[in-house]
Amino acid sequence: MASPPKQDQPTSRKKVAVVGAGVSGLAAAYKLKSHGFDVTVLEADERAGGKLRSVSYKGLIWDEGANTMTESEPEVQCLLDDLGLRDKQQFPISQNKRYIVRNGVPVLLPTNPIALIKSNFLSAKSKFQIILEPFLWKKYDSSKVSDDGTDESVGGFFQRHFGKEVVDYLIDPIVAGTSAGDPDSLSMSHSFPELWNIEKRFGSILAGLVLSKFSTKKESGGVRNGTTEKRKPRRGSFSFQNGMQTLTDTLSKELGEDALKLRSEVLSLSYNAGKYASQNWSLIYSKDKNSKDLIADAVIMTAPVCSVREMKFMKGGIPFPLNFLPEVAYMPLSVMITTFRKESVKRPLEGFGVLVPSLEQQNGLRTLGTLFSSMMFPNRASNDEYLYTTFIGGSRNRELAKSSTDELKQIVTTDLRQLLGVEGEPTFVNHFYWSKAFPLYGRNYDSVVKAIETMEKNLPGFFYAGNHRDGLSVGKSIASGCKAADLVISYLESSTDQSCAE
Ligand code: FAD
Repeated sequence: MASPPKQDQPTSRKKVAVVGAGVSGLAAAYKLKSHGFDVTVLEADERAGGKLRSVSYKGLIWDEGANTMTESEPEVQCLLDDLGLRDKQQFPISQNKRYIVRNGVPVLLPTNPIALIKSNFLSAKSKFQIILEPFLWKKYDSSKVSDDGTDESVGGFFQRHFGKEVVDYLIDPIVAGTSAGDPDSLSMSHSFPELWNIEKRFGSILAGLVLSKFSTKKESGGVRNGTTEKRKPRRGSFSFQNGMQTLTDTLSKELGEDALKLRSEVLSLSYNAGKYASQNWSLIYSKDKNSKDLIADAVIMTAPVCSVREMKFMKGGIPFPLNFLPEVAYMPLSVMITTFRKESVKRPLEGFGVLVPSLEQQNGLRTLGTLFSSMMFPNRASNDEYLYTTFIGGSRNRELAKSSTDELKQIVTTDLRQLLGVEGEPTFVNHFYWSKAFPLYGRNYDSVVKAIETMEKNLPGFFYAGNHRDGLSVGKSIASGCKAADLVISYLESSTDQSCAE
């Protein structure tokens, strides 16, 4: 016979507040809702999606935030299946054709190490250094690390393994294109944790990549008893019909209007220990200039660290100061959309896009790179025009990111004239400025992650997720949100178990 409910014991559905309706917050909320929790997402902006931001205008479709994503993370595969988004996935045409500028000219990037060695992309010296990396790689001098508490830079790491030319012409443009950062400022352990760990395990990166691939194959090789083998994800990048925001729009729709509160900026969070991890959290947020509150059993925070630093935290009725949470540096970025009539582009390139290494600034190029958006996804512009997405700024050129639309239009047109032979002016221009496009995973980023862990340790039922913690990509942000949802589920279930046991 069921025992009667104890007094004060929580009987209703557990309530979770999610702060931020970017892709990490929405993915977390969706997972919690699917598990039967009562979720409310509070979003400061008037729209959901965060850094996923797609626009459809007069027959053009473009993205002002993330343009593509991958499904390397199992959480992404599950999410796309659950949301029924497979039909809407769009894979770019010729996505393996990616260009990097050398001596002012776009050069097709070889798609694998063997093709790279066979090509003329790198000098003979660098090619030898790559081939001999398993024998010649240099160990990191860890005595350099701890003097000022910073860890090794991305540039330093790749230079030890492959030499300077690889850093200048491969790593520099790739990190500028994926994080708007630069190899000297970025922390290796936070920017490329997988490669950092491969070095720890195997020493050589090349040997480590081969050996770890081999061991993964061996581990997943046998037929799993009684279970169906997981579908292999399709490799490479993709978007969705109507752009990346289709993903966050679908998540928002699944959550429903009642669960997603827009124009709701969280101002303060207060934790008061209760007996059953129930209703311990109270959040104050401003909604249309009115102050409102929300009671919850647990909180998932996905707002950027700079916003969290602005929030007031209380614990047991007294302030919980966040002075241990370090300031994070952010990369400003302008995203320029331009269209040109096809006959005005004399050397159009088929493929994904072109990246510009910093060194190519000496050849007059000032942009970080351009995506050939309508080459990848032909429905993004009319048949007689090309749509390009160009990025300007980042750590390479912070000030340039803040330029006016007219100045940026000139910069983009000049670069595209040199790279693709565009003639005349663009037929359409759109400019979107992100003052804080990406957090910089700088060489002291460990202190940020440790501070987040300190918050979680000291504030029961508080969990942090998103691109400030587990990686910058859309896929990693989704995985981070799902991981936080799992932690909330076990936290709330274990507290329910405890209360039942009493
Ligand atoms: P966000 O999207 O930043 O969401 C955080 C949310 O919190 C925001 O909506 C914000 O308004 C809200 N918020 C802040 N403060 C408060 C508050 N006080 N109360 C309530 N809400 C608050 N990744 C890729 O994988 N591929 C790409 O091609 C790619 N390109 C990119 C291009 C650009 C220009 C940018 C900017 C990013 C790109 N990224 C790309 C990175 C990726 O888009 C992001 O890292 C990821 O979307 C971050 O998701 P998130 O949910 O962690 O954070």
